[in-house]
Amino acid sequence: MADLFPDAPRRPRRVLMHVVDAGGCCEEFPMMVRLKCLKCGHNHGWVRFGTKREALSQPCPKCNAPELAP
Ligand SMILES: [Zn+2]
Repeated sequence: MADLFPDAPRRPRRVLMHVVDAGGCCEEFPMMVRLKCLKCGHNHGWVRFGTKREALSQPCPKCNAPELAP
């Protein structure tokens, strides 16, 4: 039996945003959620998603931004 994950890269921890509001207005936009990062307070606003699962796993663009070179 071979090692299933011989070279699995270590993923850095990602900060996920939280759904603070959710709703759908019509058939065209059935899944609208308002995302906010509870760590840095970044308000992402309303975003449209195809699935609830997708909406619940959005990383914060601020907390997960690559460190800029000086
Ligand atoms: Zn954040």
